[in-house]
Amino acid sequence: MQITDIIDQALRSGRTRFAFELLPPLKGDGTAGVFGAIDPLMRFDPAYINVTYHREEVKYVGREGGLLEKHVVRRRPGTVGISAAIMKRYGVEAVPHLICGGQSRYDIEDALIDLDLLGVNNVLALRGDNLRGDRTFAPHPQGLSHASELVTQIAEMNRGHFIDGEVEECHHSQFCIGVAGYPEKHAESPNMETDMKWLKAKVDAGASYIVTQMSFDNRKILSFIERCREYGIGVPVIPGIKPFSTKAQLTLLPQTFHVDLPEELVREVERCDDNRQVREVGVEWAIRQGRELIEAGVPVLHFYTMGKTDNVVKIAEALFR
Ligand code: FAD
Repeated sequence: MQITDIIDQALRSGRTRFAFELLPPLKGDGTAGVFGAIDPLMRFDPAYINVTYHREEVKYVGREGGLLEKHVVRRRPGTVGISAAIMKRYGVEAVPHLICGGQSRYDIEDALIDLDLLGVNNVLALRGDNLRGDRTFAPHPQGLSHASELVTQIAEMNRGHFIDGEVEECHHSQFCIGVAGYPEKHAESPNMETDMKWLKAKVDAGASYIVTQMSFDNRKILSFIERCREYGIGVPVIPGIKPFSTKAQLTLLPQTFHVDLPEELVREVERCDDNRQVREVGVEWAIRQGRELIEAGVPVLHFYTMGKTDNVVKIAEALFR
């Protein structure tokens, strides 16, 4: 089933659905950790499960004589495999993320072919972040610079066009494509207007819905949705909610995701004696955010779990039981 069908059903029934995002296992881990994170959430009838994609990292290993050996490694490969495994085990749609970073257009095409053969028909198309240590995003020499180009490649494949143009008569994939949106602006954008222009380019290229970067402020999420409509972006917008969970996130989240933390949330977290209390504050904040957004009629709430779902279970108890 396509995510847009699930969204349509949610909008028609007036029932906001629950979705969450997981990381693929670390290299060397099996499926147990991921399944262990999903199991307690299944009773809330998730609409679908997103699986993040992690690009390569450069690692140097010391060798005799002071030489350094360079390795290009991926610590969390397996996005395609675990997505198919989730669908097989739970019968729920998986939405693998696919990024431009570190891949040629041919690598991307191969990944799409694998997904299509596995019956995974939904993808979230992203540019991906810079290679760790790089100040700017450098595309693969035969790769793509922006998510809009990735959306175009996927949409072209849906139309039966492969990169080398060799295949003429073929089976057409039917990928439903989601993209990222930023209620508080993408860090590299000079301003919100420019960011919205490029967001529209992704939708015009073939994206059918938008998932937002985390925001802890519903006013910003709702005004972003309004802004999308003003810019002629009519596709559904799925708000992304991250349950706040450690004191260190007071600085880590703004630094990593370029989001502001509301003063009230900061005050509540600062009052906590330990991270167990912070986790409780985070759960309460997410429940409040979720309630308001459900009231505002959003079709799906997307929860960022970072692989740990105990707090999302508590939030889902309050919102989706
Ligand atoms: P783009 O849409 O390409 O935008 C990047 C920047 O370039 C923006 O400032 C935009 O305004 C600008 N821009 C866009 N198109 C053009 C153009 N044609 N010309 C000039 N400027 C342009 N990262 C991962 O590595 N793996 C994941 O699994 C992952 N999942 C994510 C899920 C969600 C819901 C979100 C919100 C983000 C996720 N990210 C993930 C992070 C994401 O890769 C980064 O935020 C990245 O910096 C931008 O990705 P994008 O797809 O928004 O890029």
